[in-house]
Amino acid sequence: MSHLDSAVKGFRSRYGADPDGVWQAPGRVNLIGEHTDYNDGFVLPLALPQATRVAAVRRDDGLLRLHSAQAAQVTEVEVARLGPGAVGGWAVYPAAVVWALGRAGHRVGGADLYVDSDVPVGAGLSSSAALECAVGLAYDDLYGLGLDRPGLALLAQRAENDFAGVPCGVMDQMASSCCTEGAALFLDTRDLSARQVPLDLAARGLVLLVVDTQVKHELADGAYAQRRAGCERAARLLGLAALRDLPYAELEAALEQLPAGELRSLTRHVVTEDARVERVVALLDGADGPESPGGPDGPGGPGGAAAGLRAVGPILTEGHASLRDDFAVSCAETDLVVAAANAAGALGARMTGGGFGGSVVVLAEEGAADGIADAVADAFAAEGWKSPRSFAAVPSAGARRLL
Ligand code: ADP
Ligand code: MG
Repeated sequence: MSHLDSAVKGFRSRYGADPDGVWQAPGRVNLIGEHTDYNDGFVLPLALPQATRVAAVRRDDGLLRLHSAQAAQVTEVEVARLGPGAVGGWAVYPAAVVWALGRAGHRVGGADLYVDSDVPVGAGLSSSAALECAVGLAYDDLYGLGLDRPGLALLAQRAENDFAGVPCGVMDQMASSCCTEGAALFLDTRDLSARQVPLDLAARGLVLLVVDTQVKHELADGAYAQRRAGCERAARLLGLAALRDLPYAELEAALEQLPAGELRSLTRHVVTEDARVERVVALLDGADGPESPGGPDGPGGPGGAAAGLRAVGPILTEGHASLRDDFAVSCAETDLVVAAANAAGALGARMTGGGFGGSVVVLAEEGAADGIADAVADAFAAEGWKSPRSFAAVPSAGARRLL
């Protein structure tokens, strides 16, 4: 059964009627640009084929009813009574979106929603943003709101910040709402200007593996807030609006002005990470051409398009070292995936998402992917850890209506 059919069928079984429509928003994986989005910096995520679908009917009695195929909890709440703390569990995310719409001045009422998703939950692949964006898009159509895509993303982010109480940046929601098939989204999180950067790995014989460690360490939430506060303090001490405003060329001099220790490390990560995003984008731009029209010395030759794409690998590994050593958000499991993948011949790898578990992205030759996945599984077995799940990330479409 297709994803659309199962969403419709699930809606019927819960509510005994057909939905008015079905809307979908994807999970995402960030290629590079980690912990830069709350520093007004650059990110480069792509949408995953895995997505969250919301089948919905508008209700004119002000009642919001919530069912999910992934959760036993059923919630019924009056939209007029929504506010932070009014609902719990997974219902926080969809309720937050409806509340944020009302707070933004949109006249919205109730709905029957049925959620179904194949985005791994809690894996750093943004099932929360997928859920928010799918609900936001459904409401946009059900209530004729006329939201644009960045508007949808900002609304979903505010919902997660102010209602769900998660102080996330805007990357996840922008990726879920604005990505397009076959491309990564080069996003400037300061002004939300964005460009689709073509990413056709298969045409170059490459694959981007996502390895989900299936661990999430307890520190994650507190550590995120602490890193974020540290970045903001460093920017203030340097007289900058955000660390994004510190040019790479001035990094060393600026570090001297900060107290030795954590603030220096955080600053070094953010500034070098922004530079890494720009380097990767330049390589992807250069790779978006013919494979080898000029023979070995042409653009497809040793210094050409395909080689350019392969050169992304070491930048990923460099980014991981920065997240591990300077930003201190990796963990034994993600470090081991990166080390094992690289030892097994990957072009490069890095943890992706907030850290303290979650997933790793691995850039590899297509023919090496299975061997790398096996090597990672063996390394986990040797530690007595549960085997991670891996799959290939194909850049997919952002949020859209299915029915
Ligand atoms: P991530 O966004 O990395 O997957 P989060 O902790 O931010 O992890 O979000 C996961 C939470 O989002 C889940 O615990 C659940 O509350 C909610 N969620 C996501 N997808 C669904 C779904 N399909 N059904 C119900 N709740 C969901
Ligand atoms: Mg999330």
